[in-house]
Amino acid sequence: MNICRLCLGEDKNLIQITEKKDLLLKIKDCVSVEIKADDNTKSVCNLCIQKVENWHSFKQMCINSDIQLKEIQLKETKTANFDEKATNSLTEIWSGDDDVKSCISDYELTIN
Ligand SMILES: [Zn+2]
Repeated sequence: MNICRLCLGEDKNLIQITEKKDLLLKIKDCVSVEIKADDNTKSVCNLCIQKVENWHSFKQMCINSDIQLKEIQLKETKTANFDEKATNSLTEIWSGDDDVKSCISDYELTIN
């Protein structure tokens, strides 16, 4: 059949994609369609290939952004916990001394 496997469009420049493992994976990943070697229709038009490539890089970008955001959030949480712990232990150790107490509250003011 001389139609595109993905859009069913008739195109003279259909590309046989069963040998293109990378593209097959991208198609499966993006549109959940698995094209097998024994399929009757295993060609895809240029327009669909372009769309799959664009969609795949968009998906990849979103995943990378998500990872970066989570790393930033994790760092912020770690830093916040460290400051809190440090302040708490200082307060426990020096709570008897009024001079130190005022130093600690100054410190708390500067970090907040
Ligand atoms: Zn197509």
